[in-house]
This record gives sequence, C-alpha cells and structure tokens, in this order.
Amino acid sequence: MSMPGYLGDKSENIVHHLGTMTQECNIYQIKKGDKAYFIPDTIQQALEEKYTQCKFCIKN
Ligand SMILES: [Zn+2]
Repeated sequence: MSMPGYLGDKSENIVHHLGTMTQECNIYQIKKGDKAYFIPDTIQQALEEKYTQCKFCIKN
C-alpha cells in the first residue's frame, strides 16, 4: 500500500494534504480514531464526503 495523500480529521471535519502539510495543520494532534482516509485518495472525494479543505496545506 502506498502512502496516503489526504488525511481527514473527523473531529474538525477538515482534510489535509500530507505532502504539503505545515506545522499549523497540527496533524500529530489528530487522535487515531479521528483519522479518515479516502477512496479514491483525492481532494474531490474528501469534499464529496463534506470535509473542508485545510487552509494551510491545500491551496485553490
Ligand atoms: Zn493542513
């Protein structure tokens, strides 16, 4: 299995991009049970699942 590109935080309903994450993302604070992955592993899928894109690591 390859590394996931996107990580969802269920507690905040925010999706991060792991390749461009910043300190402000606080990804290491996300509890294991709050982590979500997407199939397919795309921003479109995350948005379809009603996640909001992180303003620090995902630019329009
Ligand atoms: Zn982020």
